[in-house]
Amino acid sequence: SARRLDGTTAVVTGASSGIGAATAKALAARGAAVVVMARRADRLERLVKEIGADGGAAYPMPVDVTDADRLREAVDAAAGTFGHDRIDILVNNAGIMLLGPAADASLDDWRRMVDLNLTALLTATHAALPHLLRAAESGPRQVADLVNVSSIAGRVARLGSNVYNATKFGVGAFSESLRQEFAGRHLRVGLVEPGAVDTELRDHLRPEVREAQVRRFAGVKVLEAQDVADAIEYMVTRPQHVAINELMLRPTAQE
Ligand code: NDP
Repeated sequence: SARRLDGTTAVVTGASSGIGAATAKALAARGAAVVVMARRADRLERLVKEIGADGGAAYPMPVDVTDADRLREAVDAAAGTFGHDRIDILVNNAGIMLLGPAADASLDDWRRMVDLNLTALLTATHAALPHLLRAAESGPRQVADLVNVSSIAGRVARLGSNVYNATKFGVGAFSESLRQEFAGRHLRVGLVEPGAVDTELRDHLRPEVREAQVRRFAGVKVLEAQDVADAIEYMVTRPQHVAINELMLRPTAQE
């Protein structure tokens, strides 16, 4: 049905732009009440207003997810935001991609990727697990969803992607292990692996690396954030007995 997520609480990290913002809108349009997390409070406020204007419900929670204590508090608060003490859907989406040859890399860039793409995702998951399991048991759908946003880079290693590959491969391994652990408790664990998407992700690249990316994708019509949001929406709106474990999508013309 059109509003299959009525009565659910969803949490989306990295919701101030790109895939996260599009996903928050898509889930809200299906009836979920969405807690949106990221650092840029102004962008979250704007998103919440847009969702509200479209008849949806959302709540902004400005938080740096690499601050483990703050993230845990935010996740616990999110569970209670809309009056039910549970989280039906967690989308771990916040991420950063600092590509480039290992020989010229800064160790600080490597740490930033591990801290955000991997450690913060682990912390959010750890904090949300009791709330997700409660939703699986007593929420309106009798099922809960943990969706982790990985990448083609979580499946295929490439020269210059080194630590980004390491973080996204790690997300894939963690997801599959959790999937097995929670399969019997109606907590679905889904992994999304997009190819190139038109977002702010590439804005953080060093100029020469960004130019190489532009050359690589010249002539390729890349994905829109909405295309990935559609995939996530599909995963979390399946009937209770159907789990989409992994969803890989590329621009048609990406090799
Ligand atoms: P964006 O840069 O548009 O979005 C990244 C989001 O993460 C922003 O909302 C940003 O918000 C948030 N974020 C960054 N640092 C923090 C932090 N410390 N605390 C909280 N939030 C943070 O890129 P995308 O939408 O493309 O990226 C989303 C995910 O998709 C990432 O995991 C990325 O690896 C993955 N992906 C992207 C692809 C692409 O081609 N674009 C391809 C495959 C996967 P703020 O700065 O306000 O904190």
